[in-house]
Amino acid sequence: MADTTAALDAAALKGRGFFEQAEKGLFSLRLSSPGGTVDAAFVKTAAAIAETYGTSRLHFTTRQQLEVPGIRADNIPAVEQMLAAEGIGTLTGGSRVRTIMACQGAPVCKFGTTDTGLLARELSALFAGRSLPAKFKIAVTGCKNNCARVEGNDIGVRGLGAGFELYFGGRYGRTIRTATALLPVIPDRETAIKVIRAAVDFFAENARKGERFAVMLDRVGEDAFRAALLPVAGFPDTAGFPDTAGSPDTGSPAQGR
Ligand code: SF4
Repeated sequence: MADTTAALDAAALKGRGFFEQAEKGLFSLRLSSPGGTVDAAFVKTAAAIAETYGTSRLHFTTRQQLEVPGIRADNIPAVEQMLAAEGIGTLTGGSRVRTIMACQGAPVCKFGTTDTGLLARELSALFAGRSLPAKFKIAVTGCKNNCARVEGNDIGVRGLGAGFELYFGGRYGRTIRTATALLPVIPDRETAIKVIRAAVDFFAENARKGERFAVMLDRVGEDAFRAALLPVAGFPDTAGFPDTAGSPDTGSPAQGR
């Protein structure tokens, strides 16, 4: 395989969704698929790229994104033309809001109380790709069964029948911290989205470069963070910590799908 990377700006290509592989000259294309749901045309285009310019293989990432590995640098312009023709976007990594994950949720999952795919797409349109002091992960789950394991994310959204529970400060990887629900249940999606925006803005304004949300929370204190968010959520700043065990749910069973 020809090594053409010498003439390339790998960082710029990563910004366009092409991640440099271990083998020089090859790139893995990361497609944007918020909530892990795409239409058939998306998959056909990804398959056509894999067959024409890749290795005829696709990879599903741990965060529900579809990657097409094995693309040579000199084929990237042609691949980008195919993506543009189908209106398919890419999403890069680094210190940004990463793809928004979601469980299947309503209306497909019979236990779902929330249209998680719709909420993931809304959150993706608002936040995905936004530059921040460190990487930032958001996940949405559609009932208390929590198939999306939201506590491992910087912000986790748990849809309940009677509102949304927001979890803050989770992380996985070399260091693990479990996110906690720091606010009472938020009754409507518009307010939940406003609170998520305020939390992301708080992180942008208060985190040090390279500092994950969990580390920032421990440094500035959860009380200060809550105090900033309670008014946005429409609660008095004296609202107590939530009793998550007693939060309402419209009756999903004890086990997920
Ligand atoms: S059972 Fe699992 S997949 Fe279904 S809505 Fe609940 S958390 Fe989502």
